[in-house]
Amino acid sequence: MITNSDTIVALSTPQGSGAIGVIRLSGPDAIAIANKAFAGKDLEKQASHTLHFGLIKDGESIIDEVVAGLFIAPKSYTKENVVELSCHGSQYIIQEIIRLLIKLGARAAKPGEFTLRAFLNGAFDLSQAEAVADLIASNSQASHDVAMQQMRGGFANELKQLRDELIHFASMIELELDFAEEDVEFANRDQLKQLILKINTVLNKLISSFELGNVLKNGVPVVIAGKPNVGKSTLLNALLNEERAIVSDIAGTTRDTIEDEMNIGGVAFRFIDTAGIRETADIIEAKGVERTLEKMKQARLIIYMVDGNEPIEAIEAQVKGLEGQEVPFVLLVNKVDTLAESTKFALSRFNVHYISAKQNIGIDDLKDILLDTVKFKNLDTNETLVTNIRHVEALKRTEAALSKVLDNLSSQVTSDFIAMDIKQALHYLGEITGEVTTDDLLENIFTKFCIGK
Ligand code: GDP
Repeated sequence: MITNSDTIVALSTPQGSGAIGVIRLSGPDAIAIANKAFAGKDLEKQASHTLHFGLIKDGESIIDEVVAGLFIAPKSYTKENVVELSCHGSQYIIQEIIRLLIKLGARAAKPGEFTLRAFLNGAFDLSQAEAVADLIASNSQASHDVAMQQMRGGFANELKQLRDELIHFASMIELELDFAEEDVEFANRDQLKQLILKINTVLNKLISSFELGNVLKNGVPVVIAGKPNVGKSTLLNALLNEERAIVSDIAGTTRDTIEDEMNIGGVAFRFIDTAGIRETADIIEAKGVERTLEKMKQARLIIYMVDGNEPIEAIEAQVKGLEGQEVPFVLLVNKVDTLAESTKFALSRFNVHYISAKQNIGIDDLKDILLDTVKFKNLDTNETLVTNIRHVEALKRTEAALSKVLDNLSSQVTSDFIAMDIKQALHYLGEITGEVTTDDLLENIFTKFCIGK
């Protein structure tokens, strides 16, 4: 059972040594507990949103000099009394202060418990709480923008308005049920139909935004494929500018898939370097090839690489093979530094891009091509994008329930069935924003947060 009647404490800055560590207390006794450890002004007599310098003492022994920030309920992140102690960022000091605060009556916070309390106390809805976690995890401008947009309530506001209109109709239909013998109609069926069509249009737009939202949040999966020794690892290194993949002259050294992430034009790309695709008798290598094909299916984009020095027929055969599959691909001819003009001329019948992974030629153009191919140029991240699988599932269920209402409206089904399906749709919508929740659902969401948030 979720409770929020006690006072919790946790380190809110990262674990490890740093210049400053911030220890956060939240709950009815936050100020009283901090005050017992604090030697300085009487914190219980100070105004909200003030800072106070003092000592943290355990009995007579001084643990640290700190600054205490006061936030008096309900004007805090959690809407409870909150004290933030900024201490010196030593692991020992942090541990000792937290130990002392627990001794004085606080309890160690669980992951996400501060944000859970903020949600339970109505600071924001569930989708906004989830966006807080996304914001903390964001590592590119695009993932930051979509998380920020969701945290500021863009998505939730859109849903709330639809939900309110639907609730209105649901209550009208309920009213009809009360007057069942009199055969009255409070809820205009045509209007209801129009509303549901309108809602389903919005739902469909949101559902289909998930594909984009998801890659923006998690990074665009890109597979670099091609035969051994064409220069895939070298390219990955050139892109990442770090020696992360093993470069070697021996065919097939990149046996496993290595994932790496980088930022291109504000969008995170996840590179999956793979074992070369080729017929092989080597068992380990064969597994690698299988995995490559599997990975290629998961990719949103394939960078397919050939060595410009391969015979033109061999290149042609590979291009033919690629044309069969669904994922868009970019055909890269590597080792342009070693190519004769005549070879380039022969290759010009394919849509190719020349690079030299080793000499860093054409890499910037390649980055542009990547952004172009996944259509992320001029991306409008202010648009509402669904990034959360839980939300998209709930949206789909809402849409299915509303489609059922539409069917029933055209086949003269009695009001009680219509009312039931509308209620079902409202239930699913409510799951997104948290009007409808269970402890299990909340626990599932908030345990994925970090401790101290
Ligand atoms: P992979 O098996 O496809 O990952 O290929 P590697 O990245 O291991 O490269 C195979 C060999 O080709 C290495 O000796 C690289 O130094 C070399 N190589 C890679 N890119 C280029 C390039 O642009 N020009 C030349 N001349 N050699 C390259």
